[in-house]
Order: sequence, then C-alpha cells, then structure tokens
Amino acid sequence: MPELWQLTITDAAERLARREFSAVELTRAHLERIAQVDQRVRAFVTLTADEALRDAEEIDRRRAQGAALGPLAGVPLAIKDVICTRGVRTTCSSRILERFVPPYDATVMTRLRAAGAIMLGKTNMDEFAMGSSTENSAFFPTHNPWDLDRVPGGSSGGSASAVAAGEAMGSYGSDTGGSIRQPGALTNTVALKPTYGRVSRYGLVAFASSLDQIGPFARSARDCALLLGAVAGYDPLDSTSMHEPVPDYVAALTSDLNGLRVAVPREYAGEGVEPGVQACIDQATETLRQLGAEVGVCSLPHTRYGVAAYYIIAPAEASANLARYDGVKYGLSVPDQDDPVAATRAAGFGAEVKRRIMLGTYALSSGYYDAYYLRAEKVRTLIKQDFDHAFADFDVILSPTSPTVAFKLGAKTADPYAMYLNDVFTIPANLAGICGVSIPAGFSEGLPVGAQLLGPSLGEATILRVADAFQRVTDYHTRWPNLGVKPKRRSAARRG
Ligand code: GLN
Repeated sequence: MPELWQLTITDAAERLARREFSAVELTRAHLERIAQVDQRVRAFVTLTADEALRDAEEIDRRRAQGAALGPLAGVPLAIKDVICTRGVRTTCSSRILERFVPPYDATVMTRLRAAGAIMLGKTNMDEFAMGSSTENSAFFPTHNPWDLDRVPGGSSGGSASAVAAGEAMGSYGSDTGGSIRQPGALTNTVALKPTYGRVSRYGLVAFASSLDQIGPFARSARDCALLLGAVAGYDPLDSTSMHEPVPDYVAALTSDLNGLRVAVPREYAGEGVEPGVQACIDQATETLRQLGAEVGVCSLPHTRYGVAAYYIIAPAEASANLARYDGVKYGLSVPDQDDPVAATRAAGFGAEVKRRIMLGTYALSSGYYDAYYLRAEKVRTLIKQDFDHAFADFDVILSPTSPTVAFKLGAKTADPYAMYLNDVFTIPANLAGICGVSIPAGFSEGLPVGAQLLGPSLGEATILRVADAFQRVTDYHTRWPNLGVKPKRRSAARRG
C-alpha cells in the first residue's frame, strides 16, 4: 500500500471524495514528508503550513456539508516563487524581492483556489527564472532527489524536485526557454509548457514576456491534464491570453494512437546527446510505433539557431522588464546618496541576472538593434515556419528534452555557455509559441531521462494523449528516488 504522499492526484481526488481520508490528513502527510526530506532536497523557499492546514480544514468542512467542490479540492500543491501569491512573499529567489509580499494573486492562483487546491509553499528557482540548474537562486541550490549531488535542472528546479520527492502531489512552474520541461526530464516528472497564451500570465513576474508561460509538473500525464485544465483559458487581465475554449484534457486521454503521425527531427539526432539519453528516445519511438503510431522524419533546419536567437531576445525583454526594480516602489531599497537606484540593483541582483541585463541592453542599443535584436526576431520567424511545415505532415514531434541527464552541482556554473546549451531542444518551442511536454522515458546510469513531445499551437490534448498512452505501457513515471527514509509502520493510507 502506498503512503498518502505517493498517491497520484487522480487517485487521491477519488479517495477524498469517498472520504477514505481527509484533506487535512493528506496535507499533513505532505508536510511530514517535507519535514523528512526537504533539508536535503531544499525545494521550498517558503512553507505555508498553517495556511495549508486551514484551507484543508475548510475543504473538509465544506465536503461534510455536501457542498459542490472543485476538481482539485484538498490536493496539496507547490508553486514556483515567480507566481504572485497574495499575502505570501514572492521572491523570484532574488535578494531584490526577498521581502516582497504581493497584494494580489496571479490569475493561476485565483483559479487554483477556486478549484480547491491547497498551497503548501513557494518553490526555489534560478533567480528571475534565469538558468538551467536552480544554482542561480540567491538563497541556496535545490538538489535532485535522484542524486543529491546533482542539479534538478532549472529554472523551476524547486517545483520539479518537490513533486519528484513526494513533497507535493503536483506543482506549477514557468517556462521561458525550457524551465518546466528540462527540470521535468532531470527529475522524472511529467512537465508541460502550454501554448503561448493558453494560460494567463497575469501575476507571473515577467522575465521575457513574449516567451513566458506557466505550466504544471505531475507524476502522471493524467494528473498533468487535470492541473492544466484547472488554470487554462482566457483571462481579461492578460491581453496575450487566447480566446479559445478549454477542452476537457482528461477526457481526451483515450489511449488511441492509431494513425498518429510522429516525427523525429533529422537535425536533433546525435550532436551533444548522450548515448544513454539517445537509447531511451529510440526505445520510446519504438514504443509509440507499437502503440499504432506512424513514425517519420521531419526537418527543422533553423532550430540550430534557436539558442543564439533566444539569448538575444530573452535578455532584451528581460532588460526592459527588470528596469522596474529600482528600489523606489517595492523590493530592496539601498539608501545611497549618489545613486540609490544603482546601489539597489548592484546589491539586489545576482551575477547571471546582471549578465542578462547587460546582454539585453547591448542588443537593444541604437546601432546594434538591427544587427542583433531585429535579426534574432527574423530567425524566430524562420523557426516558427519550420514547425508550421512539420506540423502540416505530423501530429507530434519527439525528441530528447535535454541532451544530458542531471549533472553535478557546480559542474557548469563557471561556464554560462555550457549552461545555455542545456536548452537546445526546448528553446525552439518557446520561440514558436507551441506546446510541449517532457515525460519519463527511462534511466541512464540510474538517472532519469525525459522525452519531449512537441505539439502545434493548442495541441495540448494531443501531446497529453500520447503521453498517457505511453504511460499505460511503461512504468518509468511510477518509480521513486531513494531518499533513504524508512516508511512509517502504519500509514494513514492503510486506514482507508
Ligand atoms: N535556461 C533558460 C534561461 O536561462 C530558460 C529559462 C526559463 O525557461 N525560464 O534563460
């Protein structure tokens, strides 16, 4: 019998509805798990245990009254510390926002509360979501539950590790160039970046506004579908959110892959991909074929310029977005007679954030704008056209999520370019605005490997259907890292 913290959201929601256990018991089980493992994993920046238990009590009370409850009623989740939470500090793992308490909820939070979800706390991240390892946090790095000496990926490493370690049933992160999918791959979780505009960005602290999207982490495709459905849809507070109906993502998980056309991009093979990773992707391709899919080869000739274009566009937008941290309105404020703004920014931002601001300011300055920024935007259009052509012939594109498995803490911190190359397979989707999900696809030397399924704009139901079908015949997603905690003698789950 699994412990309560090991249940999927789908199972837990059914058993909560049958009153086999209460929301308070489920929340307590997760808080206990956090107490057991988070000193080593360090997924959380802020815990909101009291609020979580209070909210869980409220759900239990309403259930006892027979009230209609939302689809996530009593489900404990973790939230990346880049998503504004009313009354709970939202730091972006930056000194400059260390004491910032938002006076409002992000739309995603408003929707989660309406769905009955319980927030356990805010998760660690690379400062302002800039990074691929969660080592750029101003506070501490997060560790990979599969090997505590290794990174969980980033920038949503806290949200990924929390789910992988059983500290939360699901979580949300943000993905600007891979920050949901890449940590998903490195921690054996299901991690989805929605189509640009599918989920409201209102209350998401901006990094690069034309690329940022909020999305879920979970331990199954079905859970991921539930978490996406709870937050997706038009929001009048975000002018870039899409006016498109939200399908029932769970109902779309039909397991039927007959006639599905899967493309493997010619240009992605080989270069930089570890053999152990490639072997898992080849195996996944074969599995999809056995499930009835037709597998072919597509060409994405411009994606090799993705990293270069991204590292112009994202820093350019970041340099504008981060201009607001001036120590005047909110956040850190360093009193300095000569230049308080410069003093505040010098003390408040870490090295990587400063590097991005300088890169972006340079790329946007007069004389360089045409040579860099405009050119990068043209490359972006070419990359989008590559995907348009591919999706004319195929339903999904399969690739590795990350060229490597989780690397050692410290291995790439001295070499920003090596760190940037982690995202070569994830960045193109952000530039094109399409959706993608990383799913557990096996292990290489004991470390998780993720397969990325990319879909066209609003193709979430399709990529989730493929992910779910894959998980019906594989068990990688059900495996747990060994965090060396003995199971309790009598679990609450057994009492049910
Ligand atoms: N690793 C990429 C970067 O550092 C992507 C980050 C993200 O998706 N937020 O910008």
